[in-house]
Amino acid sequence: RRLGPTPAAVGALAALRFPNRTAVIDDAGSLTFAELDRRATALATVLDGLLDGRPGSVGILCRNHRGFIVALLAAGRLGRDVVLLNTDFSAVQLGEVMAREEVGLLVHDAEFADTVQAASFDGVRLPAEDLAEQAETTGPKPVKPSRPGRVIILTSGTTGTPKGARHDLSLRMLMAAAFTHMNRVRTRSGEPVVLCPPLFHVLGLGYCTLSLSQGSPVVLLRRFDPAAVLAAIERHRARAMVAVPVMLQRLLDLPPPAGSPLRTVLCGGSALSPRLADAFMDAYGDILRNAYGATETGWAAIATPEDLRAAPGTVGRPTLGITVRILDAEGRELPTGQTGEIFVGGGIKFSGYTGGGGRRTREGLSGTGDLGHFDPEGRLFVDGRADDMIVSGGENVFPGEVEALLQAHPGITDAAVTGVDDEDFGQRLAAFVVLAEDSELTADDVRAYAREQLARYKVPRDVTFVEEIPRTASGKIKHNTLRT
Ligand code: ATP
Repeated sequence: RRLGPTPAAVGALAALRFPNRTAVIDDAGSLTFAELDRRATALATVLDGLLDGRPGSVGILCRNHRGFIVALLAAGRLGRDVVLLNTDFSAVQLGEVMAREEVGLLVHDAEFADTVQAASFDGVRLPAEDLAEQAETTGPKPVKPSRPGRVIILTSGTTGTPKGARHDLSLRMLMAAAFTHMNRVRTRSGEPVVLCPPLFHVLGLGYCTLSLSQGSPVVLLRRFDPAAVLAAIERHRARAMVAVPVMLQRLLDLPPPAGSPLRTVLCGGSALSPRLADAFMDAYGDILRNAYGATETGWAAIATPEDLRAAPGTVGRPTLGITVRILDAEGRELPTGQTGEIFVGGGIKFSGYTGGGGRRTREGLSGTGDLGHFDPEGRLFVDGRADDMIVSGGENVFPGEVEALLQAHPGITDAAVTGVDDEDFGQRLAAFVVLAEDSELTADDVRAYAREQLARYKVPRDVTFVEEIPRTASGKIKHNTLRT
């Protein structure tokens, strides 16, 4: 059997090693590795027939369920590039991204049929539900890929239109990612993992391929629902869970289950506040890890529970094989404790964005656009994104620090902070606050609370009460939406 350097190889390899183990558990039941492999091969045959030699990549617009993984493996088996589309896209965004990524065939969930219909796209549209049926009935035929396919993962789009980051997910790289990860996060082969972030985001996809390559079943839920997540952990005796910070927050709204089987919770995608980390560990035990990375770099650093207790707010030490350096604007390395741009090297192979361009590089390391520093113990701290930094009266303020403080108030469920133009100070801080149900806080109360704990220039002058804070699928606050 030929194992091409694509995620398809992961499915095939795991099917050889653990044919009868459960690979995927979702709302339709479970599939073994052998079944997953068989369906992927069958679907590859179907897709091949539908594409009929025409060029183009395969787009996936699906929630988290087996169909996503089968389509991903099938496209890889054909040697087609796979584009993972964001389920929050509007029809216009969907059309634009599909045109840019040259999608020739789109696999989508029925619930997105209207958006897909309204999007400008002249390729083949296929409801995922129909594909599952066709793949059941079509006999597997060998399909020979003419070239290895790539996975195109979209960035979160926090700073504009999501960029298409092209990745060659070779087996060697997956192995490297697995070692990197196992070095910091202890999970054993065969232990079920509940995956909460969407599979179209690097965190969900990365952990999914990692788990499958280790022979561990992934438990998928179409939508994040805290009660359903807790029920799934219990029912499948899940040992690990992956989530973004806002999901941990929502889990904490429910009483933590007694005797939870969880041994590891990996949080990533956006900043995890020290208060949330502590509250989660107080409820679930010291099992939380904070992973820092980006679509382009993969994991760069992972904080262990010990790191999180000893140095609140840290993202831990760089993972095995990863180099992280803090550089100033001229590319000089900064001493411990000083804040500069975080540069990362040695991670997964990112071959640039669709349409050209890549990240700024310095001596083989790529710039993240994040500002951060190391502590004397070698632990990394992400202070915030350079783009989000507010300069008020000549002082630099990272919204994250003020947001974490506001979010810690018992009368506040969520908060975001941004800079608005100010005649006297250049910029002033504006806070957007979601009040807890029975909270009677006023704007003056919020300012007074901030004044008690923060330097004067960090206190928000404008306070607006809102129903919800706009966030990306990776849990990041869309600061640019707040500004407009
Ligand atoms: P775009 O490039 O389209 O604006 P994005 O950079 O938000 O999108 P992602 O690759 O999903 O796309 O996000 C990576 C960024 O997320 C990192 O550069 C960092 O700012 C932030 N991030 C990820 N994990 C963490 C973490 N554990 N702590 C703090 N920040 C994090």
